[in-house]
Amino acid sequence: MVPGLHRPAYVQVDLGAIKQNIVNEMKHLAPGQKLFAVVKANAYGHGSVPVAKTALAAGASGFCVAILDEALELRRANIAAPILVLGVVPAKEAPIAAANGISLTAPSAEWLAAAKEQLAQKAETFKLKVHLGVDSGMGRIGANTDEEFLAMEKLVVDNSCFDFEGVFTHFASADSSDDRYFKKQAAKFKHMVGLLHTRPKWIHCDNTAASIFDKDLPSDLVRFGIGIYGLNPSSTPTTADLPSSIPLKPALSVESELTMVKTIHAGDGVGYGSTFVAERDTIIGTVPVGYADGWVRGFQGFKVKVGDKYCPIVGRVCMDQFMVELPEMMPAGTKVELISADPAAPNSIKKAADHLGTIHYEVACLLSDRLPRVYR
Ligand code: PLP
Repeated sequence: MVPGLHRPAYVQVDLGAIKQNIVNEMKHLAPGQKLFAVVKANAYGHGSVPVAKTALAAGASGFCVAILDEALELRRANIAAPILVLGVVPAKEAPIAAANGISLTAPSAEWLAAAKEQLAQKAETFKLKVHLGVDSGMGRIGANTDEEFLAMEKLVVDNSCFDFEGVFTHFASADSSDDRYFKKQAAKFKHMVGLLHTRPKWIHCDNTAASIFDKDLPSDLVRFGIGIYGLNPSSTPTTADLPSSIPLKPALSVESELTMVKTIHAGDGVGYGSTFVAERDTIIGTVPVGYADGWVRGFQGFKVKVGDKYCPIVGRVCMDQFMVELPEMMPAGTKVELISADPAAPNSIKKAADHLGTIHYEVACLLSDRLPRVYR
């Protein structure tokens, strides 16, 4: 997908806000604790390389990504800091990770045995840095039982192709005010860590929520994700945000402009299926952004800011365009702010997520590569 450089529509990212969020979190870390910036999924839609460089300047010690390609993208950008891939990389790719000094997550003993075989087939040997995954209750990846976990430790310690670098778990509900399940997970992780015969460099469990809601866990590093982008992880359409112990400043806005303005008349429809039919003369503005940009059909009815007025999206969002009802004639070229970086604005990313009945993580990640990222 090519970025639309000849179209007035873009994602604006405030790198100053990103830097400030990380600096705030750095001040909040426990003594000796480090910060790994989670820049997977194109830094949650914000652009991985510019965000990663900003994170380094703000004091991050390393990075977390979801897939090997995201780690290689950072290496290609000459980022030499530690990078951990949080997802499961096929064992046959282990030699590429080893050769690039990229740490992988071991989800199981089977995976370690398969990775060992792959590493043995390479003439040039690089040690693979490994973090053992512990499934303390997320039900996703990692050892679920003591036996599995100890088998994984043995494999990684007994084989010289591996460098035993870390052990980690991930919480399902560190962002919830009900901490019963969280406590159960924390206790299981503590128990599993207590079984280790060898302590790796990094034992970690904190995501943004565990850190900024002061869950008070021993974690050598914080995998700081959504907080980088200035968003509160507890945000849902139905619950109030939990108070964060650090200030968070959203970094992302989405901007475009009106490409056409016209008056339609009583009985005229707007968009596919004519879900909006004018009852009287109505001024309609067209915006050149659609669901192919990640601006999904669910945004029908959401109000975007046109000039200084909040205007509802009428009719279905098309693949590449949507229409708004304007309160007055406005010229083509008038600025349209789809998402505001101001958390108090009616078109903040949280309000956009609430409108869709989802979370802001999803709204940001959906913004496609067709929208250029512009940095300030
Ligand atoms: N750690 C793991 C294993 C994750 O999967 C994620 C995000 O999904 C994070 C850390 C970062 O979480 P957050 O963005 O809520 O800080």
